[in-house]
Amino acid sequence: MMKISIIGAGYVGLVTGATFAKLGNEVILVDVVKEKVESINMGKSPIYEKGLDELLKGLVENKKLRATEDLESAILSTDISFVSVGTPSKEDGSIDLSYVFSAVEQIGEVLRKKDGYHLVVIKSTVIPGTTEKAGKTIEKVSGKKEGVDFGIAMNPEFLREGVALEDSLNPDRVVLGVKSKRDEEILKELYSPLNAPVLVVDPSTAEMIKYTSNAFLASKISFANEIANICERFGIDVEDVMKGVGMDHRISPYFLKAGAGFGGSCFPKDVKALISAAEEKGYDPILLKDVIEINDRQPLRMIELAEKYAGELKGKNIALLGLSFKPDTDDIRESRAIPLVKELLKKGANVIAYDPKAMENFKRLFPEIEYAKTAEKALEKADICMIQADWEEFKEIDYDKYPLKLIVDGRRTLKKDVKIPYAVIGKGKKGENY
Ligand code: NAD
Repeated sequence: MMKISIIGAGYVGLVTGATFAKLGNEVILVDVVKEKVESINMGKSPIYEKGLDELLKGLVENKKLRATEDLESAILSTDISFVSVGTPSKEDGSIDLSYVFSAVEQIGEVLRKKDGYHLVVIKSTVIPGTTEKAGKTIEKVSGKKEGVDFGIAMNPEFLREGVALEDSLNPDRVVLGVKSKRDEEILKELYSPLNAPVLVVDPSTAEMIKYTSNAFLASKISFANEIANICERFGIDVEDVMKGVGMDHRISPYFLKAGAGFGGSCFPKDVKALISAAEEKGYDPILLKDVIEINDRQPLRMIELAEKYAGELKGKNIALLGLSFKPDTDDIRESRAIPLVKELLKKGANVIAYDPKAMENFKRLFPEIEYAKTAEKALEKADICMIQADWEEFKEIDYDKYPLKLIVDGRRTLKKDVKIPYAVIGKGKKGENY
C-alpha cells in the first residue's frame, strides 16, 4: 500500500486517483476548485465518466480516497505526488506550463519542511525537457537534493475520455520516464497489479512518447478525412475503402473513420504544442501543420453538404445532435460542434441543439442558441438534422417521423435505412442516398 497525493483532480487526476485507490492505495486528491473537492468527498464525480460515480462512492466510504484544497497537508501525509493539472494551449498554440510550474513550486515549498524521500511524478502532458526543469525548480524552492531527498519522474497518461476508467485499469502500456533505479522500482511496484507491459525510459523520452502517440492518432484521422474528401469526388464510399485498408495489420482499422474531425482536450492542443516546440527548435513540421489544417476544414464540410443538398441555410432550423467532442462524455473542449455552430450562426441559421450530457457546458459558450430537452423535441421543428457526435441514442431515433428535408451525418451514426435524404462526408452521390 502506498500513500499517494494527486495534484489536479480533473479527468486524469480523478480517474488515476480512483484507479490507485481501487488497487488498495491511500489517495488524496488536491484541487483548487472548492466545488470539485466537495463533490468528490460526497462520493460524486464532478465529471461524467462511465462507472466513476459508483467507484468513487465506495472508495470515499471506505476512506481509501478523499479530496482537499490543502496541498500542504496532502504532500506531508503522502510519499508520492502525481501532478495532473491542465496544460492548455496559449493563443499561439504553444503549451501553457504555468499550472504545472505553479503546482511544482508549491510542492517544493512543502518539501522544504518534509523529512524522508518523496517522489514527484509529472502526469500532465508536457513538452520534452519540462520534467527535468521541474526537478531543478523543486531543488531551488525546497533546498533539497534531487536523487537524494526527492525524485522526479514522468509518467504520461493515455486514457481515453468516455472509457477512462476501463483504460486506466487496463492500459496497453505503462511508460515510466525515470532518472534512477529507486524511482523505477517504486513506480513499477505501484503499477504491478495492472499486469501491463512497462517501458522504462528517461523523462524527456516519456514526454515525447505521449506527444508522438497523439500526433500519430490525429494524423490517422486527418489522413482518413483527406482520403474521404477525394473519395467523394469519385463517388466512392470512404468507409468501404478504409475497411479494406484497415485489414492490413501494419495499419490497423482504428482511427481511420472519416467525418467532422477530431476535438477534445488532447489531440488539437498536443499537435499544436508539438508544432510550436519543433519550430522553437528551428524545424518546420509541415506534416503536422497539415493535420491541423485538414481538421479545421472538416466540420465546415458538413455545412457544405447541407448547402449542396438543401440550399441556402439562412432562416432554416437546424437540429444539432451531439455537442460533446465525442459520445459518452460531457467534455466540449475543442468539440467540432463549436466551429459548426459559429458557422451556422454566421449563415443566419437557427440552431436547436441537443446532447445527452454536454448541454450545460455548451450553454456557457453559446447561450444564444436554442436547447431542446430531447433529441425528438429538437427534430420536431427542424428542416435539417446535423449529427456531430454519435451517441448511441441517436442510432435508435426514427428520423422518418419528422418533417426533415435532410440529415447531415458527420459521424456515420445512422446504420438503419432512413427514407429522408442523408449526406455523409466521404461518400458522394451514390446509391439511394447521398
Ligand atoms: P482538467 O482541466 O480536467 O483538470 C485539471 C485540474 O487541475 C482542474 O480540476 C484544476 O482545477 C486543477 N488545478 C489547476 N492548478 C492546480 C493547482 N495548482 N493545484 C491543484 N489543482 C490545480 O485537465 P485533464 O483533462 O485532467 O488533463 C490534465 C493533463 O493530463 C493535461 O496535461 C492533459 O493534456 C493530460 N491528459 C488528458 C487526458 C484526457 O483525456 N483528458 C488524457 C491524457 C492526458
